[in-house]
Amino acid sequence: MNVKITKAFNIIDKIEKFGGTAYIVGGAVRDSLLGVTVEDVDIATSLTPEEMMKVFPKVIPVGIDHGTVLVRHASDSYEVTTYRTEAGYKDFRHPDEVTFVRSIEEDLARRDFTINAMALNKDLEIIDPFGGREDLNNHEVRAVGEAYKRFNEDPLRIMRALRFASQLGFNLHHDTQLAIKEQASLLSKISVERLAVEFEKMCEGKEYHYLLQLMKQLKVHIYLPVFKNAPNQIENIPKVKLNGFKELIPFYCEYASTFTVMDWVKDWKLSNQVKRNSLQLKSAVDSYKYKPIQSVLYDLPFNLIESFGNVLNALGLKVDPAEFKAVYEGLPIHSRRELNFQAFDLFHIFPLSQKGPWIGEYLYEIEHAVATGQIPNEKSAIKEWIKSWSRPETD
Ligand code: ATP
Ligand code: MG
Repeated sequence: MNVKITKAFNIIDKIEKFGGTAYIVGGAVRDSLLGVTVEDVDIATSLTPEEMMKVFPKVIPVGIDHGTVLVRHASDSYEVTTYRTEAGYKDFRHPDEVTFVRSIEEDLARRDFTINAMALNKDLEIIDPFGGREDLNNHEVRAVGEAYKRFNEDPLRIMRALRFASQLGFNLHHDTQLAIKEQASLLSKISVERLAVEFEKMCEGKEYHYLLQLMKQLKVHIYLPVFKNAPNQIENIPKVKLNGFKELIPFYCEYASTFTVMDWVKDWKLSNQVKRNSLQLKSAVDSYKYKPIQSVLYDLPFNLIESFGNVLNALGLKVDPAEFKAVYEGLPIHSRRELNFQAFDLFHIFPLSQKGPWIGEYLYEIEHAVATGQIPNEKSAIKEWIKSWSRPETD
């Protein structure tokens, strides 16, 4: 039994001593039955948040309106949510009404897929009213209840179905697939940020290849940012799994140059960090076509080298990221600070020239020549090399 699950039983124990009932629910039950690592353990309980605060004096009320508190226990955090049902999703985002209920079965009925709608108690009994275990064995993602209704209630579930299928390597149940196809257009009601989370997880899943194809077949992609303006982009399927938007964007931009990194960042409303990383990776992919590898790696932060290798492999170039790292480590210099030559050395060589952008341009050439081993990192050698250049043009 997974340690996180065993530890969670201590919380359940305390709730039971208070007179409540509680179960481990959702992903933790699914993943432990599959024998894969359990990351987060969610608990559902009959106690209200107010009652939870009495049992655990130090809870953090993270989503009190939805009945969720965060309990810290033995250096782990657990989300504990009161059994609840949801009614109406007029804005396609939040349920209009959350009603606390007394039984776990009612709570499980509001969950998205049968494999996510199981509960585990302290005696290791599994409450499985919708056949989640059978679907796990059959490798199927199937909506709880009437698929059409469930996607209509919350269209984000369309993306969630695809991402679970990709992560777990499962098929989509026939009715679930049909309901997705019929209602994919409802995705335009969902905020881009929430779509991005699920799309990214789908692409990181092991069966991303199959799911991108299925997405096309079910015409889901035409309601997603970027793809809606360039539906054919979905045809470009990475040859290896890519990790996150920072790798996906340079990959797709390389295939379809009509879309830039900035188009992706704006349309999918991505963070500045993703923007920075994608721009750097795209520029490295471009430089790789005509510059020596040492020069490309010199310009790239070390923590992006792995991703650079992944993008090239996804494009079918068959490179070895470990080799790239070794090349990087072996570079004579790793930054301009390590260069044995400074801006004022340039003035010594060209005393008649005024300050200007040429200084940066010259230093750029010098550092790349040193980094690629074209010239040694010695002041005298660098000076000799520069003297062969013409004088910079300044106004
Ligand atoms: P992961 O390992 O990716 O976190 P998870 O199953 O824990 O997988 P979460 O998004 O953390 O997924 O959601 C926790 C649980 O809450 C799900 O297992 C499911 O039972 C329920 N759930 C989450 N989102 C929805 C939704 N949009 N509609 C219905 N139930 C949902
Ligand atoms: Mg989770």
